[in-house]
Amino acid sequence: MNALRRLATLLYGADPGLRRMLHYWAATCILYVICIGLLMLQVEQGLSDPDAAHGLVAFGACGAFAFYVLIRANAVFKLASDQLAVSQAAFSLICAVWAYTISGPLRAAMLTMAVVVIVFCMFALRPRQTLMLSAAAIVGMGVTMWWLQAHDPVRFPPATEFLTFGYLAGALVSTALLSGEMSKLRARTKRQKAELSDALETIKVLATVDELTSLINRRHMNQVLETEERRHAPGAEACIALIDIDFFKQVNDRYGHATGDAVLRCFSAAARASLRANDVLARWGGEEFLLMLPDAPVEDARAVLERMAERVAAMVVPGLDDGQRISFSAGLARRRSGESFADAINRADKALYQAKEAGRDRIVLAEAEVP
Ligand code: GH3
Ligand code: MG
Ligand code: MG
Repeated sequence: MNALRRLATLLYGADPGLRRMLHYWAATCILYVICIGLLMLQVEQGLSDPDAAHGLVAFGACGAFAFYVLIRANAVFKLASDQLAVSQAAFSLICAVWAYTISGPLRAAMLTMAVVVIVFCMFALRPRQTLMLSAAAIVGMGVTMWWLQAHDPVRFPPATEFLTFGYLAGALVSTALLSGEMSKLRARTKRQKAELSDALETIKVLATVDELTSLINRRHMNQVLETEERRHAPGAEACIALIDIDFFKQVNDRYGHATGDAVLRCFSAAARASLRANDVLARWGGEEFLLMLPDAPVEDARAVLERMAERVAAMVVPGLDDGQRISFSAGLARRRSGESFADAINRADKALYQAKEAGRDRIVLAEAEVP
């Protein structure tokens, strides 16, 4: 089983697009083999010229091999998939016309090749390309049949040729129309798939990002903490800080809600600019933020918060009076070995409460961390 799979990968490659093209190629080859079988049968019975048949077999085999190489090494040739499909279909149509010309009484069977080729087109071509190919097939066969009945009416009786052409033209036109409809359906499905994946992307952003501050939201932060909890190696340090803007209600009352929103946005930008590469800041709710600092000793975490406090104090918020400063209070906790983030956050929350009680604009280390 494994050996078979390895052989298939060797012949077909690993790329799904390449494999699909080679599957169509293989289906076309099966069709060639059937037509060649019928031709050889007629050669054996003396109904078809052996030299002409052998010439066609050689032409078909070379063409099939050339297309295999073209598809398999398309990374080098860089042909578009529809260019490849059109050239393959054109080649098959030439083989069909040739086979019809040299075949004995079973010649009508050769025409199925032309019809099947148009059916394959629905998977690879645009409707207009399929219609053009069908028109080329009808014209090509029409001219050939007309020429054959005019030059050799004994082998190619005009009435039979006329009827055969009618059958072929009907089959080709209806197949081309059907193929066009299928192509449109495929295009619609592709478009819908793209729209769906865009919508999914939007939903993902809505579900994880806070609209006002563009920070991640509480729900997503909980997922980040869960992942960090699982990743957390024993002995590795992680810190948690709960940050709350001071006197924010007064900002809202004095300057209005819109300016309050601007403060939240400016705060988020200033806070984000103070973080280390792996720190994660989330809007935890209202004017409260949660900061997770993986692999950070308490001193490093405190340094980040102090840097943040400086940036926040210096930030210019549109709508605020010139002298109006924004500050925050923070409760900082180191996650103990084996402790859940929920417990560490609880301790940080208590420390935040102490920071507020002590007069705000400060960072307080959670109880268990105080040396
Ligand atoms: P403290 O220093 O004790 O933290 O006081 P505070 O005024 O910051 O805290 P308080 O909890 O009294 O008020 C928080 C205010 O934040 C109340 C609420 O209306 C406001 N708020 C919450 N979310 C938003 C928001 O998205 N935009 C604006 N503009 N205000 C918000
Ligand atoms: Mg506050
Ligand atoms: Mg608050």
